[in-house]
Amino acid sequence: MSESNLPSANIWNENPWARMSFSRLAAYKRCPAWYMHVGLEWHATWTSPEQEAGHIVQDVLQAVFDNTPATDVTATDLEARAAARVQLNFSKEWAKAAAAYAANPNAVGSFNISEEKYGRYARRGLDFHTREVQSWLEDRHPRSGARLGLPAYGAVGDAWVAVRPWHAPEVVAGGFWNEVIPQGWFQGQYDLVYEWTGGRRIVDLKASAGTSVFSTEIELQLLAYAFMERALGRGSPEGLEGWFLGAAEPKVFAVPNKEATDAFGEFVKELLVKSAQLEHSWKPEDFPAAPAQVAGFEKPAGAASAWCGVCPAAWTCKLSGKQAPSAGAGVALGAPLPQGNSMSAEGLVCGIKMPKTKQMRDGSTKVTRRITLVNEGGYSSFTWDERDMQRLLRDGLRAGRVVRLQGLKSWAPPHGGHVQYYAGAQTRLEVLSEAWRPSGQDAGVIERDAPALGE
Ligand code: SF4
Repeated sequence: MSESNLPSANIWNENPWARMSFSRLAAYKRCPAWYMHVGLEWHATWTSPEQEAGHIVQDVLQAVFDNTPATDVTATDLEARAAARVQLNFSKEWAKAAAAYAANPNAVGSFNISEEKYGRYARRGLDFHTREVQSWLEDRHPRSGARLGLPAYGAVGDAWVAVRPWHAPEVVAGGFWNEVIPQGWFQGQYDLVYEWTGGRRIVDLKASAGTSVFSTEIELQLLAYAFMERALGRGSPEGLEGWFLGAAEPKVFAVPNKEATDAFGEFVKELLVKSAQLEHSWKPEDFPAAPAQVAGFEKPAGAASAWCGVCPAAWTCKLSGKQAPSAGAGVALGAPLPQGNSMSAEGLVCGIKMPKTKQMRDGSTKVTRRITLVNEGGYSSFTWDERDMQRLLRDGLRAGRVVRLQGLKSWAPPHGGHVQYYAGAQTRLEVLSEAWRPSGQDAGVIERDAPALGE
């Protein structure tokens, strides 16, 4: 596939949401229908406590690595102070995250996960970093053991600063900062890059023991990073590592050769052409429910693959063994929706995205949010005015709940396309179920085993 099959870098810069990334590609590899659900139809998906906890671990570690120790500190003192700072920052951030989780309408359930376990993960991340400092002081490569011929530093504090890894700038941490290849069609966000050995070692942090189904994707993720490094003109990375913070040692991976990263690039280009997002003209039949099998992981009851247990598109997929809530007295969601002045819909709230500000033609701005609902008819996503959304959120709209919405207005695009429903002052909300659990089976329970730190 040649570059000319794809739009120019300018077009990707104007439509950054359409770029490919590791997470979108991983969804495709799990199952094409999963990719279409999240990457082409842009349905919203809930967040879980594990995802939020992963961000805390990463943010706390980055902040501690960025500290500048006193020049007269001893190695023992430095380690003890860094550990105390990790502990203190972690406790503070954990309390903040628990409060934010309770207030986040996209968060499923409560923040009832082990603070102690994630605190240990943060501490393990510090241990791995301290080993880098130690290697610097001993003038040896942390992986090969080779002498590097570094200038002798007198103080451990200087070594801490010299070893400090690059990470995404704090102002944009949280998923909004990305490296983009010059051609514009692929982007990614590295967690840490250690450069003190003379090359670039890219480290992906994982707040897990490396035993989840998502852990199996680390090699694809690191292949994507090696591809990006070469596409950005940096040559081969010196190393690729996965720091599973529930494991005793960093996991070191072989750097893929150029043939492998070239083949990766070709695969991504083909997928982008097939996705036809900018023209909105992809063919659903190109993205069938055909899940990959994951060796060593059991399929949930009635499901075709272990992926079906954590798939956000599962509620109406025949291969999932799951069952969406009934449409009740409301419309069957999914296209095509019937039109009317006062429509009602019942369904599970799958996700509520963050508010977005849109610049209008007359210079004014409009704040909206996207919400995704599912019932036995299918999935539908709507974009509603934030003022209406705020009232519905106060009334109990939240991911993971089954709700009844009455008094929705419909609108049909003049040149065809899906009918949209809009909430307004007349819309009423009733919470039918706090946590979706069809009686007599577990298969419908909202899953909490979500990936952490971009796993
Ligand atoms: S439930 Fe399984 S088969 Fe269906 S879309 Fe998801 S991963 Fe694919």
